[in-house]
Amino acid sequence: MTRAVSADWVLPVDGPPVQDARVVWDDGRILEVVPGRAARHYPGAVILPGLVNAHSHLEYAVYAGFGDGQPFGDWLATHIVRKRALGFDEMVAIATRGAADSLAAGITTTADYSYSAASAAAAAATGLRAIVYLEVFASDPAEAERQFDAARARVDESDRVTLGISPHAPYTCSVEVYRWCLSLGIPVGTHLAESAAENEWLTAGTGPLAPGEEILVPPTGKRAVATLEDVLGPDLLCAHCVDLDPAEIDALAARDVPVAHCPRSNALLGCGIAPLADLRAAGVRVGLGTDSPASTPSFDAWEELRAAIYASRSRERRSDALGAEDALRLATLDAARALGLEREVGSLTPGKRADVTVLSLAGSPYDPVEDPAVAAVFGGSPAGILETIVDGQTRYRQGEDAWQEVRSTSSAARRRMLA
Ligand SMILES: [Zn+2]
Repeated sequence: MTRAVSADWVLPVDGPPVQDARVVWDDGRILEVVPGRAARHYPGAVILPGLVNAHSHLEYAVYAGFGDGQPFGDWLATHIVRKRALGFDEMVAIATRGAADSLAAGITTTADYSYSAASAAAAAATGLRAIVYLEVFASDPAEAERQFDAARARVDESDRVTLGISPHAPYTCSVEVYRWCLSLGIPVGTHLAESAAENEWLTAGTGPLAPGEEILVPPTGKRAVATLEDVLGPDLLCAHCVDLDPAEIDALAARDVPVAHCPRSNALLGCGIAPLADLRAAGVRVGLGTDSPASTPSFDAWEELRAAIYASRSRERRSDALGAEDALRLATLDAARALGLEREVGSLTPGKRADVTVLSLAGSPYDPVEDPAVAAVFGGSPAGILETIVDGQTRYRQGEDAWQEVRSTSSAARRRMLA
């Protein structure tokens, strides 16, 4: 059945904004973006492609503030201890809350690194599109395989939920484990060069990570990028990439390594500001990621967009270091490219999936609208999301919350973790 929504503005992202326009789809795929009204018209709003989150951990949705201000190693230890208090059902409830919060923020696709596989069930229940990268922590590929097999039994793959694997980081997995993960032919994602502490452990075996020695692989004598030199490529999504030197940026570009940029997480953990402008100038595929409330306050992709702009303009000391339109691409089409999903999602292009976000700008400082990209990026928030559509189906509508039970279960789980 053909359906449509219209608003004052449509931002297709693959082309210029269209004023007073509608997005039309049929059977879950976009047919056209054309001027004119639909029966479902949203005044004072802008229609965007569903946002693509290049890095999340849905199962940490209620971990906000744990270990705030602690050094990275202590922060990690706090999370590991508290996570042990949870059963799998609680993990699913927490991840489902994360998925519901993502949809309520206008996110329609997420690249989720999952410790327990709970996010696969969460995505399936809520209708969020997800690549679920099951995390492994191992120096021996046989141990990684054991962890992966145990978790993958909990993943039901579908049209919207895709199985992947995540060798956690070069300081917790050996290069042999990375090589084995990449041999599986499924999406692979990792954390790379998140902090100076990571490079210090890998090069010298010292620094803030050293107290966690029992879960770390031995130092390699090389920095993170050099450690993974043999396995870096277009099929290894790398989150963070903060502590990079210019030669390492060139190496990522030369190997077409996709990067997930997480500026709020990097700021709150005191890791630094990733060299976003240099990565983009070098031609690296960069998508924006919210990470999780374990390290950021929320799955609020709008706050993440603004953080990306604040950080980039501050780092470069130029107001044109990252414009609103480019920022929006980081959270849509560029993120889809980083995940290898650009033929399916990331822009309102005929033939792509009908993944659509409707954002109200009514009452924002950017209303009446001068530039819709500026207005959406600086005036957007989860509170302004009117409707989120995945595959042509409404998965969130303002004022409705189908997830009250999941919210109370996950709040109770947080209370237990704090006890
Ligand atoms: Zn992460």
